[in-house]
Amino acid sequence: MSTVAEPLTGVVPYKLREFHPFESAGERFLYLVPSGAIFALDSIGRQIVDILTTESHDREKLVEILNKQGFSTSEIELSLAELEQSEVISYGDYIPEQPRLPDASFPLQRIVLNVTNQCNLACGYCYEYSDDKISNTTGKPKYMNHTIAESAIDMLIKESATRPAVHVTFFGGETLMNFPLLKSSVEYAKEKCAEAGKKVEFSLTTNGTLLTEKIIDFLSDHQIGVTVSIDGDRELNDRMRIFHDGRGSYDVIVPKIKMLLARHRTNSIGARVTLSSGVSHVRRIYEHLTQEVGFDSVGFSPATASPDRLYSIGPQTMGNVLEGFEELAWQYRDFALQNKQHGFTNASDTLKELHSGMSKAYPCGAGLGLLGVGTSGDISLCHRFVDSPVGKMGNVTDGGVDQVARQGFLETHHIGARYDCHTCWARPTCAGGCYHEAFIHTGHTSDANLHYCDWIRGWSDLCLRIYGEIAVKNPSFLDRFNDN
Ligand code: SF4
Ligand code: SF4
Repeated sequence: MSTVAEPLTGVVPYKLREFHPFESAGERFLYLVPSGAIFALDSIGRQIVDILTTESHDREKLVEILNKQGFSTSEIELSLAELEQSEVISYGDYIPEQPRLPDASFPLQRIVLNVTNQCNLACGYCYEYSDDKISNTTGKPKYMNHTIAESAIDMLIKESATRPAVHVTFFGGETLMNFPLLKSSVEYAKEKCAEAGKKVEFSLTTNGTLLTEKIIDFLSDHQIGVTVSIDGDRELNDRMRIFHDGRGSYDVIVPKIKMLLARHRTNSIGARVTLSSGVSHVRRIYEHLTQEVGFDSVGFSPATASPDRLYSIGPQTMGNVLEGFEELAWQYRDFALQNKQHGFTNASDTLKELHSGMSKAYPCGAGLGLLGVGTSGDISLCHRFVDSPVGKMGNVTDGGVDQVARQGFLETHHIGARYDCHTCWARPTCAGGCYHEAFIHTGHTSDANLHYCDWIRGWSDLCLRIYGEIAVKNPSFLDRFNDN
């Protein structure tokens, strides 16, 4: 949205507003910034944009040029009005507005309970234990207890205000090292949410090593979504995902994952791959995890690491990762044109954001609709900041959410305060990127993640072209991205 200035006197030129142009399936589209809308140009729209790209013109001159190209005055007027209303062009100058700061009472939607800070693996890139760790667990309990978990759930219900549904995510360390607490927390949350008239959903992230039939049946009975961390085939997975004695985890987890996939059919089960310098074979990993292990969905994210770490992904490897993403994204397109679901979640997540016309004020829900809770009950920005002095926002048994700290964070991390992003066309979906990633790279959560801008823009442009092609050739496929 923007404010259109009204210079009503004299000759006022039409100007192009901010957009990223792209072509797909022989059509031309504009990704409108900052609104995040996608606009398909018809033939007269294309002419108007091309003319104004070369030079600004007033209405009279534009009509004259377009009349000579065979367009009638009435269709020109209609098109100008539509382009102006859609914020493709402006009549005179305009002042772009950044997304608005949410209200201070923005209701909480999700808590992430770090039910233990212990782990039976020693993955080389882990942000909780590696050289880049920001948490300090000295003096903190190793395992969350029932009082803390129940207080956290009470806080979620209270802070969710009028929201009809809330979500509890279980996280670690290795989450299943505190399965008894997970079990009792699910039961407590169901009971308390029912009393409050709210729906509650659950999910957990696990390394898969401790899965048993009994645990899987509990997860299935309670429709708990599961994300399993695994980095591909034995060779790739065991480069980083190892036990403390150095043994690889692949042979332990794969039979358990197959049991999970066979027994748990009530909610989604996805694989989460962490890419690092020696593990960046996107297509090979995807094919192994879907075809050999049996996952329906696989998501990738690069390891968060300061640039001098051996496992950090340099620009060259990021280029290879983008190529791998590109291959899978085109596969996704091919599946979409046949109305088939493809499991590459990086593509489906970005297409969903583009479809919803998302224009983010913040890169993610951290500190906004989402908060992390550590074993001591300390509340943090998200699960990655648990037990860190950075991003601490109160304690569940000692006053609950520190609203002053929360509001202070939101005011200083809004896209409006990330000045480096103000002229970037990818900001509606990126909004500066992960606070934790920024902190590891620059020491400041409020900095934009400028080390991956080229990558983000390359990926966003690719997803826009895929979105455009699906919109032209099989638009009904996009209905699945409508919010229920
Ligand atoms: S971090 Fe980079 S890609 Fe993301 S919005 Fe800012 S400038 Fe754009
Ligand atoms: S700050 Fe980073 S890790 Fe935390 S929720 Fe946001 S994107 Fe995820």
